[in-house]
Amino acid sequence: MTVTDGATAHADELYRIQLRHLDDCPACRTAVECDKGVRLRRAVRAARLAADKRWPQWT
Ligand SMILES: [Zn+2]
Repeated sequence: MTVTDGATAHADELYRIQLRHLDDCPACRTAVECDKGVRLRRAVRAARLAADKRWPQWT
């Protein structure tokens, strides 16, 4: 597994965790983000950026 695959898989996993939380969390379900929802969203975005930076396709 390459570094890029690892970063992308990590971002996908975080996104799945976020989606699961959105389903489970009463606050996030009513469009009011809880602390954990905000943290998850930031973590997903950071992981996506990290995965993109390691992607050489657009360079
Ligand atoms: Zn939540």
